[in-house]
Amino acid sequence: PWSNSRNSELLERARRVIPGGMYGHESTALLPSDFPQFFSRASGTRLWDVDGNEYIDYLSAYGPNLFGYGNVDIEAAARRQAELGDTMTGPSYLMVELAEAMVSMVSHADWAMFCKNGSDATSMAMTIARAYSKRRKILVATGAYHGSQPWCTPNRTGIVDDERKQIITYEYNNLESLEAAVRSAEGDVAGIFATPFKHEVFADQLIPSEDFAKAVRKICDNLDAPLIVDDVRAGFRLARDCSWSILGVEPDISCWGKAIANGHPISAMMGSQRFYAAARSIFATGSFWFSAVPMAAGLETLRLIRETGYLESTVELGNRLRAGLEEQAVSFGFSLRQTGPVQMPQILFHEDPDMRLGYAWVASALKHGVYFHPYHNMFLNAAMTAADIDQTLKASERAFAELKAERTRIPANENPLVLARLKIAR
Ligand code: PMP
Repeated sequence: PWSNSRNSELLERARRVIPGGMYGHESTALLPSDFPQFFSRASGTRLWDVDGNEYIDYLSAYGPNLFGYGNVDIEAAARRQAELGDTMTGPSYLMVELAEAMVSMVSHADWAMFCKNGSDATSMAMTIARAYSKRRKILVATGAYHGSQPWCTPNRTGIVDDERKQIITYEYNNLESLEAAVRSAEGDVAGIFATPFKHEVFADQLIPSEDFAKAVRKICDNLDAPLIVDDVRAGFRLARDCSWSILGVEPDISCWGKAIANGHPISAMMGSQRFYAAARSIFATGSFWFSAVPMAAGLETLRLIRETGYLESTVELGNRLRAGLEEQAVSFGFSLRQTGPVQMPQILFHEDPDMRLGYAWVASALKHGVYFHPYHNMFLNAAMTAADIDQTLKASERAFAELKAERTRIPANENPLVLARLKIAR
């Protein structure tokens, strides 16, 4: 029987020594109350919480797990490098090989810089945009997440207005809105950020039109300011190239993180020749940015990206999951909003203004061994098989049955944090 007593104990201890018990997007504060905060291990497609419950994990560490947790080839490469050296007085030669590998795969890019977090990459991209253009304003889509730095964090607590003064927002996939944002910058646009698709929390995902992407490209050309695609979340999940290559658009700068080393800590920023001098001119570094183990893991991850059918098989499984869930929802009298690419699915419910249905459904799926998310896009990983999807669908079917039986008794979602986020998303 499913239980979470050890997790509850740990949370109580955590609250004494860690602010809030946990912070940031991996805090379970906005999740259904039973969701475990602490885990003990992960392998392949599976995740075990501290109470020993096993889940098929549809979050993939919020993105980093691309080939399955503990992929043997990637871990062997990491272990070999760990024997030789990790964080040293300077980078390993692997840094050159990794930059060469990334540049050979990402069409728009002629160079790469490595860092640790997605926020490092996006913040550095902003700095390079300004160094290149000698202008100040940065355009970002409303609600888009580009990281936790003062200029981009969604939580304004502790942030002064001055730190956001140079940020102008536009509506994603809305050309008029983007043009208005450009006009309001009065000739001071340093760069324009776009995520590959709109992948906001608590909201349906939105794939942009090719016309929009091409128009953004043209605007940036006219302004002589970089188009920056933030591929931190979606990178290598939509293409073996920058994600906007699918739309026929080459950015000037792209930001990478999460999946590029299958969970080993490394991120990257890449750019075209035109931005080489600007990139060279800024000061950027970090104590752990040049550690060699993540670079070894990254090289092996890139090899698997190039040499395996991971992308096609993940899409196939994503379609199987989406179709199966749709059929179940209809048969139990529910209506799902399944949006985003099938390999990065968002699953919300129609007629669920406070998300009580979605919350109850994922809470029930959790107890049947499937870790779904009620408000964040999910990530399939390439270790998944048709058998995992079928097992998932068995669990989801039980969750739908329970949801139907309980439908009129499901309590309102009263978590004030959730209600506040829902208000923003609307
Ligand atoms: N950009 C995007 C699109 C992201 O999804 C994220 C992380 N969720 C970031 C930037 C920031 O990455 P990190 O948390 O590694 O700083």
